[in-house]
Amino acid sequence: MSTKYEPVIGLEVHVHLNTKSKIFCSCSTEFGGQANSQVCPVCMGFPGALPSFNEEALRKAVLAGLALGCDIQKYSRFDRKNYFYPDSPKAFQITQLFMPICLGGSVTIDNERGESKTFNLTRIHIEEDAGKLIHGENLGSANSSYVDLNRSSVPLIEIVSEPEIRSAEDARLYMQKLQIILRYAGVSDCNMEEGSMRCDANVSLRHIGQEKFGTRAEVKNMNSFRNVQRAVEYEIKRQEEILEGGGVVRQETRLWDATKGITMPMRTKEDADDYRYYPEPDLPPVVIDDNYINDLRSKLPELPDSRKARFMKDFGLSFADAYLLTSDIDYANYYEEALKAYNEPKKVANWVMSELLRIVNDKVCNIYQANIAPKSLAELVQLIDSGAISGKQGKEIFALMVESGKTPADIVKEHNMASSKKQALLSLSGNFSPR
Ligand SMILES: [Zn+2]
Repeated sequence: MSTKYEPVIGLEVHVHLNTKSKIFCSCSTEFGGQANSQVCPVCMGFPGALPSFNEEALRKAVLAGLALGCDIQKYSRFDRKNYFYPDSPKAFQITQLFMPICLGGSVTIDNERGESKTFNLTRIHIEEDAGKLIHGENLGSANSSYVDLNRSSVPLIEIVSEPEIRSAEDARLYMQKLQIILRYAGVSDCNMEEGSMRCDANVSLRHIGQEKFGTRAEVKNMNSFRNVQRAVEYEIKRQEEILEGGGVVRQETRLWDATKGITMPMRTKEDADDYRYYPEPDLPPVVIDDNYINDLRSKLPELPDSRKARFMKDFGLSFADAYLLTSDIDYANYYEEALKAYNEPKKVANWVMSELLRIVNDKVCNIYQANIAPKSLAELVQLIDSGAISGKQGKEIFALMVESGKTPADIVKEHNMASSKKQALLSLSGNFSPR
């Protein structure tokens, strides 16, 4: 990036809300079912089939808004966005353009250099997902495309940021932080690989010091955090080369090709006018009151930034350690549960971050599925701390715990050791040959 231009990046992030049923009918939202096995006249858009709004989707949209510090709107409304494409048999999408459920809000990111930045949100609105087109190389005719409507009308929120992001790295960090916060709020698994979190990036360049935005391109089809950064980086470079060559950037939608590492033109970008939005006549306005909002606010857990600050202050952890341990609500809960059993914050943190998270990453599992209960890990750290076993023996016992799911005490018993735990573990050392 030359010093002549400044990138202006705004992200539109679509997140599946993890409700059991779809947004306007009672079909299942389960991922991965046989094509068109989770459909009904409403989500297939049959004429005369009337939608009715799933309250669980509303609850989760409001929870997301609260977790992101938005101003929740007590009166919101649905609109129709008209377009013709085979993934939407109704030929319109139900969304919220004019009166969305949330306004404002923000996301604060921390980069590896320990700097934090806050990016403001414009809005969050509720909408339905479209179906999925499958192009037929692997099924039926290679010249055909097939439609799977299982995803049609799965509830989404779209989180729209202000165009305040200035680098590809910050775009990635913003996405990662959104995922952390929304997982804390319990509204989505935000899995980019499975498409439950998707991102469209609006990218433009302007001369440094210039206030007016340049022409933007919208980049789609990034299915991982890394690809968000790569795609935005590529797009910045592409536009810079056009401008440097005296050319003009076209307003268009471009698709990211992760294999080739480039963006390709998909269509010239529409403006809102092209969709002829109008209020949805089949759904009443969404009206909620302070009680509804406050009740949900009380159900939110402590959020990652506050928890991170508390871990640093109360447990004396470094920024990096507190960041890692609060980057997943389950890590943070696990860690605090272990501390209840043995209150040595730094020692327990080290075991969680090194040995345990290594297993979690190897197995690609939840921390609670790594076969070691928080109390057992605490017990192990305590045994090492008391000098009953060495650190090296601790690691060997840890490996047996992962294998068997047993506690350190169980492992001692299994080796027919004496009743005194300390003695038992001391003599246990004889059973471990050096590796
Ligand atoms: Zn349905």
